[in-house]
Amino acid sequence: MKASQFLISTLKEAPADAEVVSHQLMTRAGMVKKLGAGIYTYMPMGLRVIRKVEAIVREEMNRAGAIEMTMPVVQPAELWQETGRFDKMGPELLRIKDRHERDYVVQPTSEEVVTDIARQELRSYKQLPKNFYQIQTKFRDERRPRFGLMRGREFIMKDAYSFDRDQASAKASYQVMAQAYRRIFDRFGLRYRAVAADSGAIGGDLSEEFQVIAATGEDAIVYCPDSEYAANMEKAEALAPTQARAAATQAMAKTPTPGKATCADVAQLLGVPLSTTVKSLVLATDVQDANGASTARIWLLLLRGDHDMNEVKVGKLAGMEQGFRFATLAEIDAHFGCQPGYLGPVGLRQPVTVVADREVAVMHDWICGANAPDFHMTGVNWGRDLPEPDLVADLRNVVAGDPSPDGKGMLAIERGIEVGHVFYLGTKYSRAMNASFLAEDGKPQLLEMGCYGIGITRLPAAAIEQNHDARGIIWPDAIAPFTVVVCPIGPDRSPAVKEAADALYQELLAAGVDVILDDRGERPGAMFADWELIGVPHRVTIGDKALKEGQVEYQHRRDAAATRVATAEIGTFVK
Ligand code: ATP
Ligand code: MG
Ligand code: MG
Ligand code: MG
Repeated sequence: MKASQFLISTLKEAPADAEVVSHQLMTRAGMVKKLGAGIYTYMPMGLRVIRKVEAIVREEMNRAGAIEMTMPVVQPAELWQETGRFDKMGPELLRIKDRHERDYVVQPTSEEVVTDIARQELRSYKQLPKNFYQIQTKFRDERRPRFGLMRGREFIMKDAYSFDRDQASAKASYQVMAQAYRRIFDRFGLRYRAVAADSGAIGGDLSEEFQVIAATGEDAIVYCPDSEYAANMEKAEALAPTQARAAATQAMAKTPTPGKATCADVAQLLGVPLSTTVKSLVLATDVQDANGASTARIWLLLLRGDHDMNEVKVGKLAGMEQGFRFATLAEIDAHFGCQPGYLGPVGLRQPVTVVADREVAVMHDWICGANAPDFHMTGVNWGRDLPEPDLVADLRNVVAGDPSPDGKGMLAIERGIEVGHVFYLGTKYSRAMNASFLAEDGKPQLLEMGCYGIGITRLPAAAIEQNHDARGIIWPDAIAPFTVVVCPIGPDRSPAVKEAADALYQELLAAGVDVILDDRGERPGAMFADWELIGVPHRVTIGDKALKEGQVEYQHRRDAAATRVATAEIGTFVK
């Protein structure tokens, strides 16, 4: 590719709504362009990255024996009514009508359609197992689309669905996928963890998320540095040591009977109108460890995003005692490993809280949160309580330093970005849709299923969160838009430079290297700034002076400076 024939469109400034570095850099590097909330055009430079992600995923899925197909983006509601998801799924499911007023959905995933195909095509045990996958556009009307491609509404997912004759075989298919996922994420060259996830009502423990480690990740991951144990927060909480539960129950027994109030009361206590959107409400507590050192534990009521006061939902609090101090916002951000300002200021200055289904229980002698810097409180010592986790997703029953469930060490917590998810489904969908096959004994039997997703467009964003510096993106080779950029200095003044650059470009092309020649005639400063922002991992600079000595300059995107390399050797150097 020659830069003059491609679209290179870099920006000095990131858009104001770009909160995380991947969103800022992808926009500045001209990789994506926003069309609407959570809806992006993949610009030519960004599409090259996405295509490389797809190619790796496709190769490994094929290697693992999965079969590619493409299912419709727009799907008739009938199938979704069969499983009940048309009604149950809530506002994340985009429902549309055609000209005849017939209902459709825009696929958020495709269990219904693939199960419909399976019940028609997979008639005999002899055809099993099968695993169908697609790499396709998805739409989810996310409550808070944000962070660019990280949480879009329209995005690309690889979704796969396995069909098996029995549970044992389904679990084997699941393991094949879990292994394939490890190969896939290894190839991307990112630091990630496979963590146990909640498999919901289905039971068992056959659900794992693949989490790319990043401070800006929306998920909390619990792991033990001394063992294999790793789980997402929900799963870890489900397994929280019974000791902690007993302490919680005890603490709850001491809870004063809450008074009752309405959302309006909370709003009033906050000093805001009922319709106010608040950034976050933070409950903070300070717990002393065995040495009397303070290990601040902070419970969140509403951690993420904008909340309408009408929707305030908070868990019951227990065992509150007096004696708090104010913590700085920076301390709170640091505690959660958030970017400064992520939690945002807001809060309660008065005794309040506890809302369940629009009923607010007012409790006294505590409170927390802030609507001005330095107003968050810690030291509201209510111990290791914590109640009814289902009331509040963000209340944590597991903290760093707790014993690991496998007894092999202490738990640590870090943040991650969910880039993949493997899930054993059992007969949830086949039962609802009566998808059966004829078993060896000639009797119909329900298909055993699993589903497996990868966030194709989320992945580049996750890669950037992990690989960037002040100058821009640093792509892993595997998914860089171009592997090598050749930068001639002043080719219009020096025919030798132009000739050498062209020759090297041709040589690399012929060797199958994904190379771009910057023939735009930009000044070196602007040219280098562009490629550092775009994040091409290998750069070869060709200048008159070095060339006369038979040399060119090579610089990896991570290198502080360029190295002189003999012109004749550069080909082997970057390949
Ligand atoms: P999240 O917890 O981030 O909302 P999810 O658990 O709802 O994700 P799955 O249903 O497991 O997502 O979908 C499979 C994969 O699709 C996820 O692991 C993620 O990588 C990707 N994905 C899900 N939602 C989005 C989104 N809004 N934008 C981009 N990628 C997404
Ligand atoms: Mg989701
Ligand atoms: Mg998830
Ligand atoms: Mg998931």
